[in-house]
Amino acid sequence: ELRTALAFKAALEKASLDEDGFDPDTLHRLRHPVQTPVDADPRLQDPGFKFALRLFVDTTTSSDSTYNRICQSYQATHADTSMPSLHDMKKFVADLTGIAPIPRDMCMNSCVGFTGPWSDLENCPICGEPRYEQDTGAKERKPRRTFDTIPIGPQLVAQSRDAKNAERM
Ligand SMILES: [Zn+2]
Repeated sequence: ELRTALAFKAALEKASLDEDGFDPDTLHRLRHPVQTPVDADPRLQDPGFKFALRLFVDTTTSSDSTYNRICQSYQATHADTSMPSLHDMKKFVADLTGIAPIPRDMCMNSCVGFTGPWSDLENCPICGEPRYEQDTGAKERKPRRTFDTIPIGPQLVAQSRDAKNAERM
């Protein structure tokens, strides 16, 4: 455990955006934070959309299926509303706030994230479960489970785009 902790410490000391495998859009957002106040996007006037946005924020640490299931239930009782898909909501939030979740592979039993010294492991170092779907025949291997990290920098930038929040901070 001590050796693992030291390996993580060493990885943090060398951490760099360039070597962290970010896609170009995410890197651009991180390096060029939006500095204008949050616009009153017309979609934010739609009660169904506002509900979906709150739901998205409240379920960021839950599985993707949680958002989708609650959206389906909401739509079943509010037939006149259309709920944005999880993909569309992620894009909306990323464009509006500059905040984009960074997906990382994790153990399907939630033991660890495959980061730092564990980046290249094929199996969980705790429970031994395989990292990737087995025998799918697909060219690109699919992780069995991922976790979205919401980077702190863009969150602070987004907070400061509201005058009251900026003053509080
Ligand atoms: Zn595990």
